[in-house]
Amino acid sequence: MARCEQLHGAGLRDVLGRTQGVLFDCDGVLWNGERAVPGAPQLLERLARAGKATLELQLVCPKDCGVMAGTRPVSTDLISCPAGTGSLAAAVETASGRQALVVGKPSPYMFECITEHVPMDPARTLMVGDRLETDILFGHRCGMTTVLTLTGVSRLEEAQAYLAAGQHDLVPHYYVESIADLMDGLGD
Ligand SMILES: [Mg+2]
Repeated sequence: MARCEQLHGAGLRDVLGRTQGVLFDCDGVLWNGERAVPGAPQLLERLARAGKATLELQLVCPKDCGVMAGTRPVSTDLISCPAGTGSLAAAVETASGRQALVVGKPSPYMFECITEHVPMDPARTLMVGDRLETDILFGHRCGMTTVLTLTGVSRLEEAQAYLAAGQHDLVPHYYVESIADLMDGLGD
């Protein structure tokens, strides 16, 4: 059960050692507005050097139907996957940007679309995000290990409140102050 524990030291090395791939939400995680979160580029480089797959996901403007994966937009492929009741494409096209994010991300279907392009075992994948109600919920629904980073929207107190209330789908397994903290768990 997720208990929102701080990820550091031996626990961090252990978790990263077992991890094959890392999914990052972008805004509030890798960058804030126009500015990169300090250490984010270095972390991505270190993860790549350690042989971990990384994927950066962000739904962008509904008109563009965009999902950024890595440094290249692969959205047309991802978005064209049919999704249960109505397609993700339709959701993105008709909803506002914010609604599209909510529709798309918590659905495990998004992960299925991703893994069609980039094979990832959810049990050995970290989902790193800044929003409990989207990123962390999405990670739980897909069976990933979830990490809340505190450089974005959600606060630690909110995660602790969800834990106290027994709303476990909204409680991350771990939290870090910033994704830069994850570098301590990687070798040189
Ligand atoms: Mg975010």
